[in-house]
Amino acid sequence: MQTKLADFIKGTPEGDEAEAILRACVHCGFCTATCPTYQLLGDELDGPRGRIYLIKQVLEGAPVTASTQLHLDRCLTCRNCESTCPSGVQYGRLADIGRKVVEQRVPRKLPERIKRYVLKEALPRRWLFEPALRAGQLLKPLLGKPLQDKLPPLRRAGAWPAREHARKMLVLDGCMQPGMAPNINAATARVLDALGVQLIAAPGAGCCGALRFHLNDQAAALDDMRRNIDAWWPLVERAEAIVMTASGCGVTVKDYGHLLAHDGAYAKKAARISAMTRDLSEILPGFEAELVRRAVVRQPSEAVAWHPPCTLQHGQQIRGKVEGLLRALGVEVKMCRDAHLCCGSAGTYSLLQPELSQQLRDRKLAALADTGAGRIVSANIGCIGHLQSGTQTPVEHWIELVDRALHG
Ligand code: SF4
Ligand code: SF4
Repeated sequence: MQTKLADFIKGTPEGDEAEAILRACVHCGFCTATCPTYQLLGDELDGPRGRIYLIKQVLEGAPVTASTQLHLDRCLTCRNCESTCPSGVQYGRLADIGRKVVEQRVPRKLPERIKRYVLKEALPRRWLFEPALRAGQLLKPLLGKPLQDKLPPLRRAGAWPAREHARKMLVLDGCMQPGMAPNINAATARVLDALGVQLIAAPGAGCCGALRFHLNDQAAALDDMRRNIDAWWPLVERAEAIVMTASGCGVTVKDYGHLLAHDGAYAKKAARISAMTRDLSEILPGFEAELVRRAVVRQPSEAVAWHPPCTLQHGQQIRGKVEGLLRALGVEVKMCRDAHLCCGSAGTYSLLQPELSQQLRDRKLAALADTGAGRIVSANIGCIGHLQSGTQTPVEHWIELVDRALHG
């Protein structure tokens, strides 16, 4: 696509990147059919090709309107369009650049500003989020139905193994996951411990930065990333990998090297951190034979439906690994129709675009229910919490199945 960038961005690192992405797009529209928001709304401007065109206009200096902002806000950043695109257009990166400019040009109304401020300041801080979550769980019967549905049930972590091993891996604690589902990292630690690997959560690491980045506070997000790098750095020499148990965090940490490439103090460290980062589903298949040998419990007896998060299948382009491992452990795994489509969670999207998010969730839950499975497993805390808010069917992380298979 021919592009003539405006002076405010021409020649900057972001301008150069955006220009290269825009030039790669041949405007064929193949991506439109697989876009969840286009499927719901039927408007070209709520699909990737239309959004790319809007961002092109913004970067070429055209007036930016609230309508432009709305169409970009409605994008889930699921990156399904990237998987479909035959020209390799990096839509997600272009959307980040376009949204940042639009955010600077179009003032939001006060209630929207307050909402976004509270989300980006409260959710990444565990000392704020966890007491608020506990209070909500205790007072749940007194709350309205929409809030009740959003609150995850209280879950226990179980024991974190005390043994030390020569083989070590780091794990990201994250921000919301420890409060919502503390068992995920504990189960990961128990499984790896059984395989002779010690899992270490570095003190001082926290939110991966995705939350603030996608709320367009990119400067604060980069600070979150630098803080994590500082927390991991003293331990990286001793660790084989940095393990991600939430695919939404994994896709972001794998991008640290790119996002901090122009930071003189952090560029090299960020590249090393990204190179060491692995989703859990990239680690455990390497231990498949040992896991099968050690599995003592065949759980669950019913089939499970696997929901692959967008951040895993589109963002990280990882497919087939979780299903393969679970099947090797004797679990009957079912895929639902349209498994490539987003469930509507998408970080804070479910709070900022509740109607669209709920429609996508209900479509996904209907497709999952049609598999006949009695349990849903996924790989991202956002998807797990969002899906659980609309169903009585248990939704959990796939590592919890593996943990039970090993330890009962
Ligand atoms: S992003 Fe890719 S699939 Fe979509 S219009 Fe551009 S070239 Fe075609
Ligand atoms: S990222 Fe997802 S919602 Fe956004 S344009 Fe691409 S397919 Fe559509």
